[in-house]
Amino acid sequence: MNDSVRAARSEWDRTPGFAEALSVLPGCESLRSCIQCGTCTGVCPVAAHMDYSPRQLIELARSDFKNQVLRSRSIWLCASCYACTTACPREIRVTDILYTLKQWAISEGVHPRRFTVPVLAREFSVMVYSRGRVTENFLASLVFFKTNWMAAIGMWRLGLGLLMRGRFPLRLEAIKDRESLRRMLDSAPAAGLQTKAGGESPQARKEDHKP
Ligand code: SF4
Ligand code: SF4
Repeated sequence: MNDSVRAARSEWDRTPGFAEALSVLPGCESLRSCIQCGTCTGVCPVAAHMDYSPRQLIELARSDFKNQVLRSRSIWLCASCYACTTACPREIRVTDILYTLKQWAISEGVHPRRFTVPVLAREFSVMVYSRGRVTENFLASLVFFKTNWMAAIGMWRLGLGLLMRGRFPLRLEAIKDRESLRRMLDSAPAAGLQTKAGGESPQARKEDHKP
């Protein structure tokens, strides 16, 4: 048994069918062809800070350890540099697999609580979906409020300075034709995942598209 699988608590942690559902999603088709060579981990600039390395994540995912991968911090630390994807001798799209896992974790609400990256990703998506534009100060305030509002208090000088220079809009910006944008985003399966509260998993979405 692989050491990454040993890291999982027990066989009871497996979610049968997870790997199968994941491997039919776009970009994840080669999941099962991993030879565990570790090249992805070797080239990853943030692997040292991850709870599971890219190689371990792939092994856990294809072994049905759904909870371990969806709740890991590793998928949120990925910097999307694509070094792992370009170096993989099996042409596995590791970065795309991590993207899919992030979307899945958000849609099931199992990402680490008060961890900045998933909160930022979700609020960014919601703002784009609802307004068609991101108002940075509102986005930053929301993320601070939902992760570490005490840190925001310490930044009042910066906020005041931006306000004085007219760089701190007091209204949310929006595009004119928001409905068209929503229709376009709704037609893209991956886009809807992060924007709809309590959204369905990629697995469920795939089921929906079965004939
Ligand atoms: S580089 Fe590719 S084949 Fe090697 S461990 Fe990573 S995903 Fe698997
Ligand atoms: S894309 Fe993510 S997992 Fe892959 S090497 Fe870059 S940071 Fe690491």
